Amino acid sequence: MRSFVSEPMQYGRLFLAGDSAHIVPPTGAKGLNMAVADTGQLFEALLAWYQNDSASELADYTAGCMRRVWRVQEFSNFMTELLHHNPDKTPFEAHLQASRFNQLITSPTASAVVAENYVGIAAKRAGKVMNNG
Ligand SMILES: Cc1cc2nc3c(=O)[nH]c(=O)nc-3n(C[C@H](O)[C@H](O)[C@H](O)COP(=O)(O)OP(=O)(O)OC[C@H]3O[C@@H](n4cnc5c(N)ncnc54)[C@H](O)[C@@H]3O)c2cc1C
Repeated sequence: MRSFVSEPMQYGRLFLAGDSAHIVPPTGAKGLNMAVADTGQLFEALLAWYQNDSASELADYTAGCMRRVWRVQEFSNFMTELLHHNPDKTPFEAHLQASRFNQLITSPTASAVVAENYVGIAAKRAGKVMNNG
């Protein structure tokens, strides 16, 4: 259930992507999605560097990933808290968890929010709207 974010996602000219840059608990099933999204973003930045001598995309790499990285961290944390039984929880916290779960299965709005996070947030890159983790 480890969570970790390296910010920035680079050290000098070494760029980090995937699990080397961030770890999420498995509950959201997001680790591979994130690795693919990072790689797509880095690919376009490297393309801009090698094809157009443009360094700004590489300079923006971390900032471009962070919104998605923290959204996925929060979602994975939410799913872990929602779905896992934790014997250390107080009875009050256990009731909050049960109430959250009940809302998820009875409210179309609450389930739509979870579904949106599950299928990935949309991101605009290079003029295209893409599924981004
Ligand atoms: C049981 C399990 C279930 C999972 N289920 C899901 C899921 O349903 N959905 C999801 O999105 N994610 C899932 N994940 C997470 C996902 O697998 C990882 O987040 C993803 O593989 C990270 O990709 P990566 O390329 O960053 O790292 P990795 O896939 O770990 O790739 C790193 C590679 O580097 C190699 N390597 C390491 N050290 C060296 C070295 N010194 N020299 C050369 N090569 C080296 C390794 O052998 C490995 O091939 C799951 C993970 C596990 C363990």
